[in-house]
Amino acid sequence: RSALALERQKLKRLKTTPAATLDGTAVELQANIELPEDIHAALDAGATGVGLFRSEFLFLNRGDLPSEDEQFEAYRTVAAAMEGRPVTIRTLDLGADKTIGAMDFAGPNPALGLRAIRLCLAEPQLFLKQLRAILRASHYGKVRILLPMLAHAHEIEHALTMVSQAKGMLDLQGVPYDKAIEIGGMIEVPAAALALPMFVKKLDFLSIGTNDLIQYTLAIDRTDEHVAHLYEPLHPAVLYLIANTIRTAARAEVPVAVCGEMAGETELTRLLLGFGLRQFSMHPAHLLAVKQQVLRTVLEEAEAGANRILRSTEPERIHQLLAKLNDAA
Ligand code: PEP
Ligand code: MG
Repeated sequence: RSALALERQKLKRLKTTPAATLDGTAVELQANIELPEDIHAALDAGATGVGLFRSEFLFLNRGDLPSEDEQFEAYRTVAAAMEGRPVTIRTLDLGADKTIGAMDFAGPNPALGLRAIRLCLAEPQLFLKQLRAILRASHYGKVRILLPMLAHAHEIEHALTMVSQAKGMLDLQGVPYDKAIEIGGMIEVPAAALALPMFVKKLDFLSIGTNDLIQYTLAIDRTDEHVAHLYEPLHPAVLYLIANTIRTAARAEVPVAVCGEMAGETELTRLLLGFGLRQFSMHPAHLLAVKQQVLRTVLEEAEAGANRILRSTEPERIHQLLAKLNDAA
């Protein structure tokens, strides 16, 4: 048998082991999913919840828009399958690289255009339909709402008002839903990471979308191969924004997760733990390897290493310090 198969078998044994650092600090490892059928992979990997359900995938690769009932069925399936563990449904993140034929909204610069929450607030009927579907599903499990690409306070307020409106419509029809449903926001625009007090005040939880946070901080299009070499998660500006977000949220006692690709990279697990991160959400394929890394981490060492990395300004030094942090037994 190949070494790879052996390693995979070893990791599988970790499925039911709770994720905790060597000193016993518990860590949540959740799954990112795109369609309801991905829930099997999430459960197989022992995910303790769905940290990111990219709901826009229900809208892609088809000529029409999914109805409220179709969306409800998809969200309910996932909520029920997770049996009370949190299911974080991100509202539509269409636009930029994820466009659909049924709606044409690509402006001159799609990544900076009518994308995600901006599109939803501009299309209230579309948004209300999704919010009603999510709220209806919240009766069948622990569902949370996650708003993508927030930058302004008024976007949060507007979205919260629309959630209230959707609740009011269901109340009138006597349809059950979780009245205490939590509403969180994605931190993926530098403005949000820099003006965090505005966000922690208005939201129940945060999730850092490092894929977009890197794109917007470094001004490089994620989808443009000509600048792919400039996409650098370890850029000091990116690390500063991530660490600042985690620490500010912790001080305000607002739960914070990372759901971008960085959460699934084992070379970054100790660094993120050292920043204070306790909730990771990633592609299910990475979950057990990240768990193994968590189980091998001494938190105090991770914190010391993360602080050293945050204080360095030399890219080469940052890479050296990270390698050293990861080499520690
Ligand atoms: C992110 O930006 O990090 C994220 C998780 O969202 P997406 O990759 O779907 O844009
Ligand atoms: Mg994103």
